[in-house]
Amino acid sequence: MPAKGVNIQARAHTAVAPRREDREPERPNGVRVQAADRTFSTRRGEVPALAGMSLHAAPGEIVAVVGPSGCGKSTLLELICGLQEPDAGNVQADPAALMPQRDLLLPWLDATDNAALALRARGTPREQAREAARPWLERFGLAGFERSRPAELSGGMRQRVAFLRTVLAGKPVLALDEPFASLDALTRLEMQGWLASLLARESRTVVLVTHDVEEAVVLADRVVVMSPRPGRTVAELRVLLPRPRHRTDPEVVALRERALEALGVPR
Ligand code: ADP
Ligand code: MG
Repeated sequence: MPAKGVNIQARAHTAVAPRREDREPERPNGVRVQAADRTFSTRRGEVPALAGMSLHAAPGEIVAVVGPSGCGKSTLLELICGLQEPDAGNVQADPAALMPQRDLLLPWLDATDNAALALRARGTPREQAREAARPWLERFGLAGFERSRPAELSGGMRQRVAFLRTVLAGKPVLALDEPFASLDALTRLEMQGWLASLLARESRTVVLVTHDVEEAVVLADRVVVMSPRPGRTVAELRVLLPRPRHRTDPEVVALRERALEALGVPR
């Protein structure tokens, strides 16, 4: 039975040691956000970030979230990961690993240790954790940089290490906050390909925040479009297209147009 109210099982963060309740539930529930409100009190008054936000991701489903800057997307992911609680409404989620918008790598650890951080947090000895991370670093185009510290990596490389860290956390839910935003176009396509093949191999529930509507349509089963702040869902597009999808597929282009229309982008 899913618990009522905020599900404390969602309190999982890649950089935080796991607790007993972080263990995977016997039956996955995915992610369910119902009529969630979140308002921040600031020196300049109350800032409502989310008002009546609802979103559902079934286990194994990939849901992309698009919306204007400042509409509460990062706040939504923090609610899903249990890092914040809603002021009203209900958030339930299986244990989730967050890839934050800023990479938040530890500057004193090399790429391998940073990628393996979640394994270390689960008690895996350092050498074993590094061993497990190594093949992934190569797959993610980081061969030769295993021992480089974040300051010695490009922005795109840091983002790939952060992405890898989120994947290696092994949680059933991935909450990805604009994971490919600072990558050049080519690397971005490559990473999108990796994410797609990873998700084809192993089932994870994904909530992918992106400002790239095409990326949303190419990767997701469903695209949730949010209103300007305070954010709530204004449209939901089902993407029933076979994979792999390409940006230039006419169906992808048509869905992109519909999403842009829902976003209110002048056409
Ligand atoms: P998005 O990720 O869609 O750009 P955010 O969730 O980061 O939006 O922020 C939504 C709104 O809430 C913004 O107006 C932002 O300034 C405000 N906000 C977010 N986090 C905080 C915070 N910790 N304190 C005060 N205001 C915040
Ligand atoms: Mg954000």
